[in-house]
Amino acid sequence: MKPFVLCVDVDGVLADFTWGFTSLAAAWHPEITPWPTSEQKTWEFDSIPKGIQNETWTRVRQHPSFWWDLPCRLSSSERYSLCVLAADHRVYFVTNRLGVRPEEQTVRWLHHLGLRNPNVIVTTNKALACRTIEAQFAIDDKVENIAAMHPWVHTTLFRLPYNRDSNVTVDYCVDSLSEWIGFVNAAASQRS
Ligand SMILES: [Mg+2]
Repeated sequence: MKPFVLCVDVDGVLADFTWGFTSLAAAWHPEITPWPTSEQKTWEFDSIPKGIQNETWTRVRQHPSFWWDLPCRLSSSERYSLCVLAADHRVYFVTNRLGVRPEEQTVRWLHHLGLRNPNVIVTTNKALACRTIEAQFAIDDKVENIAAMHPWVHTTLFRLPYNRDSNVTVDYCVDSLSEWIGFVNAAASQRS
């Protein structure tokens, strides 16, 4: 099988950023009840007052292990499938994380999932990163990233409540990582 170059988003797709952010907000403001990515209705945290959002972002930037602490959204079988995918293809985990050593925290987090030597790119311009690594497939939950990456790469929108109503031009939409891995493997077996 000829390997593909794949671009995989981390937050929203693999890691529960929403849970981490709302939990951090709730730690200082107990009137807030944390919620997971699967219940996040909009891209922004509209139900959290702007001042508390800004304060929480400051805490995210200063927190030594915010990204390392995030829960994983994958089932154990999906974790395994991701490890197999990374063994069969060149997978890059491309993320727009900030704060304290975001690349190192992400590498360690992925390593903990079972990935031996994960390739992590921290960037504010995912579309440029995708083109630089000559990715053939990319998966992301952010509509703006999909719009910027298309048509340079086969794009997949990871469907969540906050992007479900978008009409962005995209090649595929999936509700799970395993669905996307199925697409990639089918495409790989077709061309080999
Ligand atoms: Mg994301």
